[in-house]
Amino acid sequence: MIFASIKFRLTALFLAISFVTLSGLGIFLYYQLESITIGSIDSHLHSEVQLIAGMVEIEDGRVKVDLHEIAAGDYAVPLSGHYFQVVEGKPISGSWPVVDGRPASARIVARSASLGRVDASLPFGELHFKGVYKTVDGPAKKPLRLGEQTFVIDGRTVTVQASESLKDTHRLLASYRNSLLMILPAVFFLSAGAVFLLARFSLASLNVFSAKVGAITEQNLGDRLEEKGLPSELLPLAENFNTMMSRLEESFEGQRRFLSDASHQLRTPAAVIKGYCDVTLGRDRDGKEYRESLEKINNAVVRMTGVIERILESARAEGVSRGTAGFKELDLMEVVTDAVRLLKESAQGRGIRVSLKGESRKVSGDRLRLVEAVSNVVDNAIKYNREGGEVLIELSASDGYAVLTVDDSGVGIEESARGRIFERFYRSDETSAEVAGSGLGLSIVRSILQAHGGDVDCEGRGSAGARFILRLPLVS
Ligand code: ADP
Repeated sequence: MIFASIKFRLTALFLAISFVTLSGLGIFLYYQLESITIGSIDSHLHSEVQLIAGMVEIEDGRVKVDLHEIAAGDYAVPLSGHYFQVVEGKPISGSWPVVDGRPASARIVARSASLGRVDASLPFGELHFKGVYKTVDGPAKKPLRLGEQTFVIDGRTVTVQASESLKDTHRLLASYRNSLLMILPAVFFLSAGAVFLLARFSLASLNVFSAKVGAITEQNLGDRLEEKGLPSELLPLAENFNTMMSRLEESFEGQRRFLSDASHQLRTPAAVIKGYCDVTLGRDRDGKEYRESLEKINNAVVRMTGVIERILESARAEGVSRGTAGFKELDLMEVVTDAVRLLKESAQGRGIRVSLKGESRKVSGDRLRLVEAVSNVVDNAIKYNREGGEVLIELSASDGYAVLTVDDSGVGIEESARGRIFERFYRSDETSAEVAGSGLGLSIVRSILQAHGGDVDCEGRGSAGARFILRLPLVS
C-alpha cells in the first residue's frame, strides 16, 4: 500500500536522485582536491629538482654539488620527509642501495642532511630524462611524493631526486573525506524530510477534496469545492468536479420537478374520479345515472392514461442517446411522410390541408423515435390550427443539416411563451383551455432531436400561425 502513495514515491525518487548526485559530487570533489594538492606538490618538486640540478658541477673529473643554499630548513631535520639526493651513473637492477666504492655503476654523490644523518636513501630505479613524479614509500615506510630527473652534465649522467612528505596532504584529504561523510548524509536526510513534508502539504488539498466528495449526498448537491488557493495541478480537477456537480444538481432538480409536475397532472383526473365515485355512491341511483357517472369516470381515466403514456414516452426519449444501437441511416422524407400519414385522419376531421414539399435527405437515427418527434410537431400544427386551416411542411438542407420547417395557420405563439414551450408540462394559458394536452409533447421532441445531434426551435409568426424548425445532421 505504501508503494502506491504519491508521497512515498516522490520521497523515494528524490532520495535515489540525491543519493546518486551527492555521492557523485562528493567523490568528484575529493579527487579534485587530491589532484590539486598533489599537483602543487609536484610543481614545487619540479622547481627543487631544477634548482639542485643547477648546483651540480664537474670539478677535476668529479661530480660536486654546492649545498650551501638548500641544506637548511626541513632538509636538515632527520626523516622530515623533505629529502633530496643526487645520484651519478646508471642503476643496476636489484643492486640498490648503492654502496659507495662498490662495483655498482650508480652512486650517491650528495644527499640532504635529513637523509644523511640517519644514513637513509631515496629509492632509485630508472633514468628519466623528463621529470617524473610518483608516490613512493620512503625511509621509515612513510609515504613520499618523489620527483626525479636525469641530466647529462659534461658527459656525466646525473639524476636529481627531491621529495616531500605526504603526511599533511593525507591528513587534509582524510579530514575532507570525514566532513563529507558527515555533511552529505545530513543534507540527504534533511532534504528528504523536506520533500516528504512538501509533498504532504501539497497533497493536503486532495484529502480535503476526497472528504468533500465522500460527504456528497442528494441533500447537498449545491456544495462546491473552494477553487481559491488550490495548487495549479488540482485546479482543473476541482473545476471539472464543480461543473459535474452543477450538471448533476440540474439533472436532479429536473427529475424532482418532473416527478412533482407528473403527480400534479395525475392528481386532477384522480380527484375527478374520486369526486364522481363519492357523489354516485352517496345514495341509490337508477341505471341511467350510474351509466352517466361511469362515462365521466371513463373520460377522466382516458385523460389519465394519456398523461401516463406521455410520461413514459418522455422517459423513453431521455434514454435515446446519440450513436446508440438502433441508429440507422434513413431518409428523413420517409419519416415525415409516415408521420403525416398517421395524422391524416385528424387533419381531415378539422378540414385542415397538410402539404409536404422537398426531397429525400439522409440522416442517421432511430426511425420510430424520429417519426414520434415529427408527428408531435405536426399534431400540434393541426391541434392549434383553425378549422379549415393549413399546415405546410418543407424539407431542405443547410450547413450540413437537414432542415424541416412546419408552418401552420393557427393561433401562433406569444413571444413570452416561446422560450417555455419546450419545458415539460408547460401549456400556454390561451390554448390549454380549448385544446386537450399534457404539455409534454415538445419536451419529448427536443429530447429526441438532441439525442440525434440536432435541435428544434420555434418562430412565432404572429397571427399568421406558428413555425417550428427541426434540424438533424445530414449523413455525408
Ligand atoms: P401539449 O400540446 O400537450 O399541450 P406540447 O409540449 O406539445 O404540449 O406543447 C406545449 C404548448 O406549446 C402547448 O400547450 C401550446 O400552448 C404551445 N404550442 C405548441 N405547438 C403550437 C402551435 N403549433 N401553435 C400554437 N401553440 C403551440
